[in-house]
Amino acid sequence: MRKDVRILLVGEPKVGKTSLIMSLVSEEFPDVVPYRAEEITIPADVTPERVPTHIVDYSEAEQTDEQLFQEISKANVICIVYSVNNKKSIEKVTSHWIPLITENTDKDSRVPLILVGNKSDLVEHSSMETILPIMNQYTEIETCVECSAKNLKNISELFYYAQKAVLHPTGPLYCPEKKDMKPLCVNALTRIFRVSDLDNNGILSDNELTFFQRTCFNIPLEPQALEDVKNVVRKNLSDGVCEDGLTLKGFLCLHTLFIQRGRHETTWTVLRRFGYDDDLELNQDYLFPPLKIPPGCTTELNHNAYLFLQSVFDKHDKTVCTNDQGWITYQGYLSQWTLTTYLDVQRCLEYLGYLGYSIVAEQESQASGITVTRDKKIDLQKKQTQRGVFRCNVFGDSGSGKSGFLQAFLGQNLMCQKKIREEHRSYYAISTTYVYGQEKYLLLHEVFPDFDYLSDDDMACDIVCLLYDVSNPYSFEYCAKIFKQYFMDSKIPCMMIAAKSDLPEIKQMYRCSPLEFCRIHRMLPPQPFTCNTATAPSRDIYTKLTTMAMYPHARLRCMCTCNRCTFCLCQNFLNSELLQTVRAKLYAVVLRRHISQADLKSSTFWLRVSVGATVFAVLGFAMYRVLLKPR
Ligand code: GDP
Ligand code: MG
Repeated sequence: MRKDVRILLVGEPKVGKTSLIMSLVSEEFPDVVPYRAEEITIPADVTPERVPTHIVDYSEAEQTDEQLFQEISKANVICIVYSVNNKKSIEKVTSHWIPLITENTDKDSRVPLILVGNKSDLVEHSSMETILPIMNQYTEIETCVECSAKNLKNISELFYYAQKAVLHPTGPLYCPEKKDMKPLCVNALTRIFRVSDLDNNGILSDNELTFFQRTCFNIPLEPQALEDVKNVVRKNLSDGVCEDGLTLKGFLCLHTLFIQRGRHETTWTVLRRFGYDDDLELNQDYLFPPLKIPPGCTTELNHNAYLFLQSVFDKHDKTVCTNDQGWITYQGYLSQWTLTTYLDVQRCLEYLGYLGYSIVAEQESQASGITVTRDKKIDLQKKQTQRGVFRCNVFGDSGSGKSGFLQAFLGQNLMCQKKIREEHRSYYAISTTYVYGQEKYLLLHEVFPDFDYLSDDDMACDIVCLLYDVSNPYSFEYCAKIFKQYFMDSKIPCMMIAAKSDLPEIKQMYRCSPLEFCRIHRMLPPQPFTCNTATAPSRDIYTKLTTMAMYPHARLRCMCTCNRCTFCLCQNFLNSELLQTVRAKLYAVVLRRHISQADLKSSTFWLRVSVGATVFAVLGFAMYRVLLKPR
């Protein structure tokens, strides 16, 4: 909303400009007035629209043309005052004042005009006959009003209309010549209708109308008022009401009626609530609410936003959940959103805005749908993460099978991949995996194999995949070089993938074998992988990757991740929060024992505790080793 409104009064001398202002302020007609009233400011709380309003007088006797031009360019709305008993003052409206104002204002943002016929107490007849043709000729004239400073008729109305002309201009909404709403306004209201039509049946039911009313006006709609609204539409349009609800046509008709009856502030309230600005474009604040993302943090959708997106998907999903025809599934749809949130959170906010997230989910802004994760460094320190999305950058020489590795994650085997058109290929693939029963997103990013130039984005990830082609003896060298140059000293876990494992393996031309290389650098042995399968390729490798990304510290890693075997259960136990807290507490106790030697009284107690802790740790480790042995 705007900060304030500046109203300027112009017109021929002696038409009563100064008297009108004085009458408004003192609520009585002043017998004697100065040439020009001082500028007055009406505080926000006493104006009908709750905006501070400045009223500015003009006097030819006291002001130069230059001063007048300046005032015109500063004004938000201009009242051209004439006297109803003075023909000449009416003539001057078109011959002098309107052209003068047009010359001194910006062509793109025409200032609204109001024609004010003063001294209505002096005549029996109305000046409207002369005024209406002028109104039709100049679209910038917002309205006209006849009033009298002398008997205080229509004075407060006049200033209310002026305020309204600024705050709720008809210009962007309505075309007086065509007697219809403008296309941009129709577009905006159509979007509002679609967002409010929660079940997407093309009709606003009573429930949906009530929700709409509460969102826009903050007051419930009485059952009788609901009926009245529908009856008004029925009267004006045969197909405006259907199945006892409002159709899009009916909704648009209702707003046309509001505007035609001078109640365009109602339409503006609706438009603004759904994020539109004065030019009927979605507001920057609505689409891009401020969101701070410190370095080391990533962006994810929160539960609330997922629920909303689920409802949007259900609302538009008229197909069954299948991807045989390549239609996006619910799973794929949420993955796409997750990807957008991770890589381009501004765009995600913008799209949430178009879909009306903050309105439908009754949130303060689109930003309340986003979780900014904590810095990765803290995750590593605490050996715990709350993230739901993990990024894996995939490195490999050209032709080593990176794209196949990405596509296989989406369930596409080699046969299916051949059908994907070049322009539809992406350097990203995202889907869900299950790590110890929790659903997590894994985001694979294929890094362009340009050894000399790696961007920060190519380096920043939760896990690195180094992929070579077992049938190409020259492909391992690239992985070894990348690892040595970029990741050997970093804390990011790395995994070696032996791709195209369906083909016969050929000895790699490198000073040591991939297996040896992995052993030397304390990596897991190369993981065989192929996407040349009859059905969808195996997902095990992706679960492993996500697990490693989640627990980069875990040294004794169970790599089967079946989540059922003893090893998985043991791993679950070791990673469980309970054990972590117990362990942290015990450490703290032992530490304190060393520091506060003064606390002699309880020293035997602390001794017992620390011995207990050691026994516990040794036993735990032994148990784990025993369980691991049979493998
Ligand atoms: P300005 O030059 O446009 O500012 O006009 P003024 O406010 O100075 O008014 C000029 C004359 O018209 C004064 O004598 C006022 O008393 C008189 N006047 C102003 N408004 C009215 C009105 O509504 N009715 C009547 N009868 N006289 C008015
Ligand atoms: Mg005056």
